[in-house]
Parts: sequence; structure tokens; C-alpha cells
Amino acid sequence: MANLYSRFKTQMAAAPQRSAPPRTSGLSGSDAEEMCAALESLNLGGLWSTDAAGKLTYLSPAVRKPLVQGDYADGKEFLNLFVPPRAGIDGQRTLPFVFARKGHFEGVIARTKASTSDGGRDHERETLWSVSGVPIPGPDGGFAGFRGHLVDVTSERQSAEEASQLATTDALTGLSNRRRMADLLERTFAAFAPQGRPCSVMLIDLDRFKQVNDTLGHAVGDALLKQVAQRLILVVGDKERISRLGGDEFQVILPDVEDRGRLGDLAGRIITMLSEPYTIDGDRCTIGASVGIAVSPYDGETVDNLVRNADLALYAAKHSGRGRFRFYSNEMLETAEQRRHLEETMHDALAKGEFELHYQPLVEVASNRVVGTEALVRWNHPDRGMLSPALFIPIAEESTMICRIGEWILRKACEDAVQWPGQVRVAVNVSPVQFADQTFPKVVAMALSSTGLDPDRLELEITESVFLQEGAATDAMFKALKGLGVRLVLDDFGTGYSSLSYLQNAPFDKIKIDQSFIRGATSNSNRNRAIISAIVALADALGMDTIAEGVESFDQLTMVRDLKIGHVQGYIFGKPVAVDVLFQNLLADAWVLKPEGPAHQRPERRAMFRTIGVIHEDHYYPVTLRNLSLTGALIEGLLEVPVGTPFMVDFGEGQFELATVMRSRESAQGIRFERELVSDGNGGLCTRHRFLPHHLSAAGVPKNSEEFLTKQAGLLATGKISMPRFGMANRGTQRNPG
Ligand code: C2E
Ligand code: MG
Ligand code: MG
Repeated sequence: MANLYSRFKTQMAAAPQRSAPPRTSGLSGSDAEEMCAALESLNLGGLWSTDAAGKLTYLSPAVRKPLVQGDYADGKEFLNLFVPPRAGIDGQRTLPFVFARKGHFEGVIARTKASTSDGGRDHERETLWSVSGVPIPGPDGGFAGFRGHLVDVTSERQSAEEASQLATTDALTGLSNRRRMADLLERTFAAFAPQGRPCSVMLIDLDRFKQVNDTLGHAVGDALLKQVAQRLILVVGDKERISRLGGDEFQVILPDVEDRGRLGDLAGRIITMLSEPYTIDGDRCTIGASVGIAVSPYDGETVDNLVRNADLALYAAKHSGRGRFRFYSNEMLETAEQRRHLEETMHDALAKGEFELHYQPLVEVASNRVVGTEALVRWNHPDRGMLSPALFIPIAEESTMICRIGEWILRKACEDAVQWPGQVRVAVNVSPVQFADQTFPKVVAMALSSTGLDPDRLELEITESVFLQEGAATDAMFKALKGLGVRLVLDDFGTGYSSLSYLQNAPFDKIKIDQSFIRGATSNSNRNRAIISAIVALADALGMDTIAEGVESFDQLTMVRDLKIGHVQGYIFGKPVAVDVLFQNLLADAWVLKPEGPAHQRPERRAMFRTIGVIHEDHYYPVTLRNLSLTGALIEGLLEVPVGTPFMVDFGEGQFELATVMRSRESAQGIRFERELVSDGNGGLCTRHRFLPHHLSAAGVPKNSEEFLTKQAGLLATGKISMPRFGMANRGTQRNPG
């Protein structure tokens, strides 16, 4: 901001030079007056003076109007021209402060307020003044008052504020940006840490936002983000706590909140709210949201750790099916480390021949004849054994490794398939990343020509996520692949954003109905059946084959038959196996398989055999958690516990809850919790609050209780120790004195 001096200099330089010769010994009295008058007329603010008591003795006419609103009078207190400074906000250097010091001061900010009315509405207009002054020495050398200058700096101040606002807000949504939020978090942590106050961080990422952006355009994407911001403000209630970190990622800071029940409720409400349909320029679209949550100090005692952990929780939420929230847990860090390890070793794995293809038969329903196989990749990892593609394909897709691995898979599958007799086909999964790569048709052509496989025997399985890319490129890719003579299969139909319009627009030869759809149709809803039946009819009309995936039981097979689905893939005909065992089970040379499996689909039962700890008086006992509900649990592993015994239950990771034994039979006890557990967002339960290790050791909980529990469970399982008797000191159950 230009100060009086510099402004004065510019103005003077522009003004015509006086012809009088310069004097060397200061100005004469009348020159000084003229100079003052010139200065006052330049509209650079005004001059003022007071007496020793702070009463006005002079005020330039130019500033009288805004400052005293017309009724200028000598003898008015200078300080009373301004509104009193706000404690704590205006800082130390206030006018009353510098006046009391009776010394020289410069650029102290003071405010005036004036009511104006326009169009019948009253406004309060605030003016900011920069005030400077020097003390006037009295005849005795003492203080005789002030003389000074003041200038209206409202507009400069406002634009400075606007500039800093711009630097700290997200221009699109008006929320805080990443920098402001990082600042706020740092300050909150600095204030909270010494007092041990908690603070939670939520990271929110929109599901399918990229799809909207790519298909409906960036303008719609931007409008959508604005609406998302508005909805977030509505749910969270405090705009200051929300920021857009960039792209479609948002962050919410919740100081003094650590109750996982409350956090889970809020996250659930955010997900529901953001998943409601949006209307933008008449277009309707729906997106979803995933939320990761970390709670300090338990999940991180520094800002960096807490935010990193919230990010890991978000990653886990997105990978556990989207539209979910997850709390951070220690295993997520391990998973992240494993991912990094896999990513690093993947390059070499290809060269070292650690990838393998397994094949699963594709069977014609009418004849039980094997008409093809699906190639499913596995990674035979030297340390970790056979790894599932569900684990490493997503990692490969995040780098370009998927294209190199995919090329190997394609060639190997073709190589294997030429060995098979007859017209048995081979189906190969194609990642959307490969599909988006323009050289992909060349890769396919090379695999075919170098192995000599008939193109009609190669099926490429594509998921509908390829439609999320730009239309023109996708169409060209379909054309190029069809041009090679290979068959195209729509995989996992019924899982994503399935739209029947894909079927009409893309040249598929087959639709693979996903196992979740098949499962749903047998277990409950008639709706699934009706939908499958409609899909089959449409596919028939368009001349496409159908195949049901994941068929395990006879009731499912019967349904598949009833629904007139042409082919089946599933454990009922065979699991994926290595290429040399693939055809061992085939009946003679008829290529026919006999279905084998349970009559009905087994309901998913999750037995629980987790070892947890219970504390009673001076003992820490390992027990097995057999079932768990919001209000209680069944534990096993302690003999003869009286009904009514109070326990402190240790679920691990700092989760403790008080419980009372309600039922007791031999080594099993039904216990009731003092406070209900809450959802962990992932189908499990957790305690509302967590305790830090130093709280625990202060309360007498063994330091490495988790390690201890695992060891005890092992010793119990192998019979090396006997089941502890309640109340009796047993090796290892004694309270840890350290
Ligand atoms: P997908 O293409 O939908 O493959 C079918 C998955 O269902 C396979 O899992 C298969 O083993 C499993 N499955 C088949 N029948 C049954 C059944 O009756 N019951 C049950 N519970 N499961 C059954 P897998 O081999 O773990 O592969 C998982 C996914 O990984 C595949 O899903 C595919 O998306 C991906 N994938 C596998 N191999 C490749 C590959 O070579 N390249 C690419 N890009 N992705 C692959
Ligand atoms: Mg597949
Ligand atoms: Mg599938």
C-alpha cells in the first residue's frame, strides 16, 4: 500500500515546479502554511492536532465531514471520533494504546461507522483510517499534544483482504482451499495437543465424478461441485470447517469430536445427501461419495499422520465398494505398505515368470459341454504365495504395468488355447486401461498372428467401465477389435451403472451376468429374476449369447436354465485350475462336465474366532469372541465366571468397553456392554472412543496386549497351556506390572 510519503512524492513530481530558488534553511512561516494548504488540497487525507488532554485543536476540512459528520467543533476528544477497538482482534497497536504512550506512531488503523440509507434500507458503512502522529513538545519540554495525519484506507484494506481471501479460498465453491485448511489444522493441533483434546478429519471423495465430467462436460462438472459444496455446508453446518482440496476431494475438520458413533452418523448423512440426484441445466445426474475418517490423537498425533491416515481410510472405503465410510485402522497402513511392495516387485515378477494363468470352464447349459474357458491370472509370489488378481490388478492399473502384464496374458492364453482341440474358446479379461490404449488392437493382432489362433476362438471380456471414456475413441476401439475377428464379451453385467443402451450401441457377442446378480436372484428378489429375464430376451433379439457367472449350487443352475441363459461358469462345473489340470476332469472325449455342488446356496455365515482380552481385577485374560452385537457378545475361554462379574473388554487398537456377565455356562459367557457399540462403516462394530497406549499402561493393561493375545491364543490352541480358570493367577494372565 502506498504511504503518504510516496504518494506525496508522486503528486509533487507531477505538479509544476515552483520557480523560486530553494532555500537551505527550512521554510518560512507562511511557506509552511502554504505547503500545508497545498497538501490538504491534494486530497491525501487530513491533518489533525490535539492538546495534551487529547482534545481536538485542528482537523483538516477535507476529513471533517466523514469524521465528525458536519458538526466539527474544537475540543471534541480525538479518540471519540472512532469506534472503540475490538479486544483481541485489532491487535496491540490501537489508538488508545499509542495515545497513552504519548510517543511517535505511524499507520495505526482506526474505524468509523456511519449509517447511510439507500432505497429505504439502512446500511452501516465502516471506514478504515490509517492514523499517524508525533507528540508536540510543550515549552517546558513536556507533552503538549499530538500533531498528525490520517487517511481513509478502506478500499486498499478491502482489496488486500480480498486478495488474501482469494489465496485461501477455492474459487469454484467458495470453500476454504487446501492451504487455509492446512493452516487451520496446524493451529488447531498446536492449541489442542497440550490439552489432549481430540480432533477428527474426514476426507470425502466423490464416486463417478470423473464420469460426469467426461460425459456431460466440465461446465456441468463445475456446477455439480458447487452443489456438492452447498450440500456439505448444509450437513456439516459450518462452512469454515469444510474445504475443497482439489478435484473432487473435500475435507472436513471436526475439533473436539472423537465419538465414532457421531462421526459415523455424520459420514452416513454426508454420503446419503451427496448421493441424492442433482439437476444441472435440466440434466439429471447421480454420483456417490466415499468417506475416510481419522481421529486424533488416537489415529495420529501430528497433522501429517492424521491426514495420511484419513487418506488411507478413504482409499479403503473406495475399495470396499464405494458409498461407504471407513475409520482408519492400523492394518490399513500395513496394506498400504504391502501395496507399495507389490508395486515395486511387479516389474521383476513378469521377467521372472511369476505370473500364471488359470483356466475356468465355460459350459453350455443345454448339453453340459465345455465350449470355452476363461483365463484368470494369478501371481505366484515367492514370499506371499498365490495372490489373487483382485489384489494386484488394481495396483497394476494405477501404473502402466497393466499393459505389459496384459500383453503377456493375451499371448500366453492364445499359446495355450491353440493346443486345445476343436473349437474350445479362450476368454481373456481386458482392463479399461488397456482398452483406452490405442496400440491395443495391434497387441491383439500380434498375439493372434504369432500363435496362429483362430480369432473367432478369442473372446475379450470388457467391463462397462470402458463406456465412461469418450464416446468416439471407444467406438473406434470396438471397430478395430471387431475388425480383427475376435469376439467381445460384456463382463460383470449388473454390477455397475448397467445400462441396456450399451447393448444396443456396442457390438458385443456375449453378455456375462455377474455373480452378485445371480446370487440375488436365487436368494430373494423376484425383481432380479425379472431383470435377468429381460436382459436375456434383449440379448436374444440382438443375437448375443448369455452366460451366468458364479453358479455354485443346483438351485442356481435350475434358475439359470429357467431363465434360458445359454452358458454357465462357476464352481458347480469347476474352479479355475492350472492349464495342465484343466481337462483332466472332462468325461472321455465328449468335453462334457458333470455339475457337482450343494443343492442350495449356503447362506453366508460369519463365524467369529477373534481373540480379545478381558480384564477383571488384577488379571488380563485372553478369550475368544464368538459373536458380537451392538449391546453384547458371547465370549469363550474362561471357566466358571459368576453371573454379574464386571469385565473391561479389550477389542484391540485402543478399544475398551465395560461389560457385565449376564449368562455363564462352563467356558462360555454372555456379556452385556455398558455402552452400545457403533458401526465401523464396514459391516463391523467398534467402540465409540479409543484410548492411547499411555492411558492403558496407566490403567494396568499389558503393554503389548495384542501381541500377548496372539501368543496366548496360539498356546491355547496347541494345548501348551490350559484354559485359565477365572480368578486364579495363571502364567501370562497376571497383570503386567510395567
Ligand atoms: P471376472 O472376470 O469377473 O472373473 C470371475 C471371477 O469369479 C474369478 O475370480 C473366478 O475365480 C470367480 N468365480 C468363478 N466362478 C465362481 C463361483 O462359482 N463362485 C465364486 N465365489 N467365484 C467364482 P478371480 O480369478 O479371483 O478374478 C477376479 C477378477 O480379477 C476377475 O473377475 C477379473 O476382473 C480380474 N482378472 C482376473 N484375471 C485377469 C486378467 O488376466 N486380466 C485382467 N485385466 N483382469 C483379470
Ligand atoms: Mg471376466
Ligand atoms: Mg465377471
